[in-house]
Amino acid sequence: MGTFQIDFGEQRRSKIVGIDLGTTNSLAAYMDLTGPRIVEDPEGRKIVPSIVSVLEDGKLVAGEPARELLLTDPERTVYSVKRLMGRGVSDVEEERKLFPFRIADDSGSAIKLKLGNRTLTPPEISAAVLRRLKDNAEGALGAPVTEVVITVPAYFNDAQRQATKDAGRLAGLDVLRLVNEPTAASLAYGLDKRKQGIIAVYDFGGGTFDISILRLHDGIFEVLATNGDTHLGGDDIDNLLLRIALEDVRSEWGVDLAHDPEGVQRLRRAVIRAKEELSFVPETLIRLEYKAKSYERAIDRNLFDRLIAPVIERTLVSCRACLTDAKLTPEQIDEVVLVGGSTRIPLVRTAVERLFQAKPHTELNPDEVVALGAAVQAGILAGDVEDQLLLDVTPLSLGIETMGGVVSKLIHRNSTIPASATETFTTAVDGQRNVLIHVLQGERELAKDCRSLARFDLKDIQPVPAGFARIEVRFLIDANGILNVTARDARTGAEQTVEVKPSYGLSEDQVEAMIRESLDHAEEDMRERQVREAQVEADNILSATEKAQKSAAWIALAPEDQAAIEESKRELQAAYHSNDHYLLNQKIEALNKATTKLAETMMNTAVRGALRGTKIE
Ligand code: ADP
Ligand code: MG
Repeated sequence: MGTFQIDFGEQRRSKIVGIDLGTTNSLAAYMDLTGPRIVEDPEGRKIVPSIVSVLEDGKLVAGEPARELLLTDPERTVYSVKRLMGRGVSDVEEERKLFPFRIADDSGSAIKLKLGNRTLTPPEISAAVLRRLKDNAEGALGAPVTEVVITVPAYFNDAQRQATKDAGRLAGLDVLRLVNEPTAASLAYGLDKRKQGIIAVYDFGGGTFDISILRLHDGIFEVLATNGDTHLGGDDIDNLLLRIALEDVRSEWGVDLAHDPEGVQRLRRAVIRAKEELSFVPETLIRLEYKAKSYERAIDRNLFDRLIAPVIERTLVSCRACLTDAKLTPEQIDEVVLVGGSTRIPLVRTAVERLFQAKPHTELNPDEVVALGAAVQAGILAGDVEDQLLLDVTPLSLGIETMGGVVSKLIHRNSTIPASATETFTTAVDGQRNVLIHVLQGERELAKDCRSLARFDLKDIQPVPAGFARIEVRFLIDANGILNVTARDARTGAEQTVEVKPSYGLSEDQVEAMIRESLDHAEEDMRERQVREAQVEADNILSATEKAQKSAAWIALAPEDQAAIEESKRELQAAYHSNDHYLLNQKIEALNKATTKLAETMMNTAVRGALRGTKIE
């Protein structure tokens, strides 16, 4: 009899690591046999503060040592660099008032920071944090780490995402995917298993507040809306407490610590400790021993809640705006996920629960959920987890051609993928049995100016009068950028699908050129589109009128009404090629008015006919 040996070789193979590169704190995680697991450094710490310092010799340190240097060497230390990723000097003018950083050179458009004897870009600084996380992960796994998934806020644009990828590359990492933070949080809770539902992710961290509403369908997360405040977080709460403590110290000691950088940093740490304790106990002490003096103040949750209520209300204002943008009411939210260290505060939890009328998920550690979700995504990519999921962005909009050669966009440029969208169209001709689905890519308004990706016929649709058919067109882009287009007759269920590869064969330069061109032509395109749409409407009303003129109602119509219709028809036909949509719409309106009586008579006849039919039965 032979013996079986369990092969643990898999475990030692290099892993794809998931990274939460946060504004305040960063974490890494990986999949082990039991599920996602946070990386610990040799001291057993999980959180790496997103702080970077330049040492005397020009080397960079990140994390805890840099946090210490923030106290003693603030001019060579930087924090919150995520706020500057992928942004130009002109983008951050407002930012500079709110958060101090030293821009090395105002002349260029890219931001460079002066730290000690070095000049560094935001991706270079972020790379130092990533390198630290990579080292910790390699230590924990006992294997080299080269492939990662990094999370980014859902609202990050192309440039911010690109800067994050660059940071990865600078740290010697291959960034396989960027995942939206709210999506990662949902994955950590396994919400993808639900298949359908609306998820709100409330992320209240150190310096930022984000609310995202996602729709989950068939395991795909679609970002419906995002909102938030890039300057609202635990820091604001710290400042409220700090102001009180500084005031106390001034009156008790007769010293203004605000002018003592070390003193104020120590007091800040004391209030942060008290704040964090108050999430678990009803009362605590703010305590400072400094320069042979001591300060102590009791603070209870009642006072604390009253103090922070306005801060929390600001997050709720964003939540309501986000719901409005997503066109949803609070009752339509199925799941609420809490992310970020500040969601440990009990008042935050009750406020969120009250707003969304749903008990939020709090089972996982709120400052770990995003990293855990990133690890789940990493596991999916490595094939450790079944199902293919998630994310990149579409470089150009995708849509179909509708009447008059106008493009109706289903998926917009920069949408995160996988993405899906469904829209319902109708037929233009009575008794139409086929529709041509023409799939297009580009930013321009007219089909002729976009790139044609595919054409196919949806056959066997039920012949009904124009405007009555319901053709559902569904676009679905999978994680690899493959587009599937399905057209379906909602009445008969007849369905046709094609697979398209949207971004293949398009170089970066071509994408750029297409976007630039759309901006150059925006106005002209709009006008042309409006003319085309008016022409389509004119065609419809003219053919409907002609049809009506063959009916019994026409014969019954007074001669002066008949003449008025003929006149309006002639005028509309004359305006048809005028290229002036105002004129066209005016003439359409006139014909519409002229035919009102005719239409009413026809309707009545039709109803009478129908009633007669019933009687005979
Ligand atoms: P970010 O996503 O911005 O990097 P985090 O999600 O790590 O930030 O949140 C950091 C914030 O959470 C800090 O302001 C910290 O003080 C706060 N925080 C951490 N633990 C608690 C707690 N127990 N109670 C209240 N706030 C907390
Ligand atoms: Mg975060």
